[in-house]
Amino acid sequence: MSEELTREIKKRRTFAIISHPDAGKTTLTEKLLLYGGAIHLAGSIKSRKTQRHAVSDWMEIEKQRGISVTSSVLQFDYDGCRINILDTPGHQDFSEDTYRTLMAVDSAVMVLDAAKGVETQTKKLFKVCSERHIPIFTFVNKLDRFGKAPIDLMDELENVLGIRSYPMNWPVGSDGRYRGVYDRQTKKVELFEADETHGQKARESAVYELDSDELKEKLDEETYQALLDDITLLDEAGEDFDLEKVAHGDLTPMFFGSAMTNFGVQNFLEEYLRLAPPPAPRLSSEGVIEPEDEKFSAFVFKIQANMNPAHRDRLAFIRIVSGKFERNMSVWHAQENKAIKLAQPQQFLAQDRQIIDTAYPGDIVGLFDPGVFGIGDTLCDAGKKFKFADFPVFPPEKFARVQAKDTMKRKQFVKGIEQLTQEGAIQLFQQAGAGTESYIVGTVGTLQFDVLQYRLKSEYNVDIELTMQPYEVARWMQYEDGHEVTPTSLRGADRGMFVYDRHGYPVLLVSNEWALGWITDNNPDLQLYPVPPDR
Ligand code: GDP
Repeated sequence: MSEELTREIKKRRTFAIISHPDAGKTTLTEKLLLYGGAIHLAGSIKSRKTQRHAVSDWMEIEKQRGISVTSSVLQFDYDGCRINILDTPGHQDFSEDTYRTLMAVDSAVMVLDAAKGVETQTKKLFKVCSERHIPIFTFVNKLDRFGKAPIDLMDELENVLGIRSYPMNWPVGSDGRYRGVYDRQTKKVELFEADETHGQKARESAVYELDSDELKEKLDEETYQALLDDITLLDEAGEDFDLEKVAHGDLTPMFFGSAMTNFGVQNFLEEYLRLAPPPAPRLSSEGVIEPEDEKFSAFVFKIQANMNPAHRDRLAFIRIVSGKFERNMSVWHAQENKAIKLAQPQQFLAQDRQIIDTAYPGDIVGLFDPGVFGIGDTLCDAGKKFKFADFPVFPPEKFARVQAKDTMKRKQFVKGIEQLTQEGAIQLFQQAGAGTESYIVGTVGTLQFDVLQYRLKSEYNVDIELTMQPYEVARWMQYEDGHEVTPTSLRGADRGMFVYDRHGYPVLLVSNEWALGWITDNNPDLQLYPVPPDR
C-alpha cells in the first residue's frame, strides 16, 4: 500500500451539514470556511444585506426563495486536514437530492436551533444518516440568544431521535440566557465578549480557568455555583464518552455555540476533525472496497447542468472511494460497460472551479458529462469491473401535465425536460395514447415543479403550462407470466392514468392506496412495484 495514499486518506473528512431551515447551516458553513482561511471576511462575498445567501448557494432561485435548492460541494484545508463539505438543501421538497448527497459522506453535522431543538426536517435527515450508521455530531446553535435548557435538548435527542448524546461543552448561565461555555476536556470556561465585527472575523476568545478568581468575578455566585453543580452531575450521571459508539452513530458528541458570533465554532471544528472518521469503505458487487485499495473507484451521486451561466455544461459529481484519481486517467464505466477517459476534472471552492490533477478517497470531483453518466453509476479500474451497491430510488408522489406554451419552442422544451430527468430532479412519463406535445412529470415534492418551471425558463427560454394531476401513487406493472400490461388488458385502467416511463415500462398513476387496492383485487395476476423493477 502506498504511503502517499494512506497519508492522504487519513487527513480527509467528508461530511454534510443537516438541519431544519433557519437553524444556521449556511452561517455555520460560512464560518467553517472562514476558519479554514478559504474566505477572510465572512459575508463579504455577497453584500451584508444579502448575507443570508452565503457562498454555498448557487442558483438564482435559491436567492429568490431563500432556500437552498441544489447541493453544493466545498473544499478547504484546516490544521493538516482536507475538508469536503457537501451542502444539502434544507427544504423538505428536495429530500431526494439530499438523500443522494448523504450517500457520499462519512459523517454528518446536525445543527439545531437552541430555542427550537429537534424540528421536522432534522428528524427526516437524521433518519437517513442513522440508517446508514454514520457518525453524527450535534451543534446547538444560537446560544447568544434565549434557548432551551441543555438537559432538555439532550432529552429531546434521546426521546425524539433515539440517540444518546455526550456534551463536549456546557452552557454557562441560566433560564435560557447564556454567558458562555465550559469545555469539558480543557476544563476551562469561555465567555462571550462583545464582538465589534458581528462575527465577520475569526474571534479572539476570553478563556478562564474554572477555579480562577477572574471567572468568579465575571459570573455572579449563583451562576457559578449552578455551573459547578451541572459539571458534577454530568460527570457522575452522564454517559461516558465512547468513540466506538460515536463511530456507529449510537452516541452524538454535542457542542453548544453560536455560528453568527463565531462563538465555539473554532473549538467545534477542531474537536470534530479529531473525532470524525476518515473516508469509509463502501459495499460493492465484489464485496467491501477499502479506501486504501490502490485501484481507483468512485460513484456518481449527483448530476447537474447549467450550474453557472458562465459554464453552460453538465457536471457529474463523483465521490472517490478508493485509490488515487489522476487527471486524464482511463477508467471503466460499469453501467455503460466501457472504458472512458476522465478529462477536465474540477473541484470547488465557493463559486470558483479549478481544474485538478489528483484527488483521493473522500474527495468530490466534478466531471464534465457529455450525457453518459447516471446517478449511482460506478467508475472503477478496468481490471476490476464491479458496481457499487444500488442507490435508493424514491417513488414520485406528485404529478403534473407539462407542455410548452409556445409550440414553436418544442425542441428546447424536450431538451430541457430530458436534461432535468437525467439529473434526477423529475421523473418523466408519457400518457398511453397521447401525442408527444405534453409529458406527465412526477416528483417527490411540489416545490420541484417551481424549479422545473424556473429552470426551463432561465436555462432554455421556454415557458411551460403546468396542470397538476389528482394522483399521488405510481406503480410499475408487470404480469406474473411476463406478458405486457396494456391499457386494454388492465382491468380498471380508467380509474387512474395509464402511462409509460421513459424506458417504455407501463406505470399506473392512482389517487390513493384505496384505488390501488381495487386494482390489485381485480387483477389477480398483476405485480406492482413502487419503483422501477430490475429488467
Ligand atoms: P439555514 O437556513 O439553516 O442555512 O440558516 P442560516 O444560516 O441562513 O440562518 C438563519 C438565520 O439565523 C439567519 O438570519 C442567521 O443570521 C441567523 N443565525 C445563524 N446563526 C445564528 C446565531 O448563532 N445566533 C443568532 N442570533 N442568529 C443566528
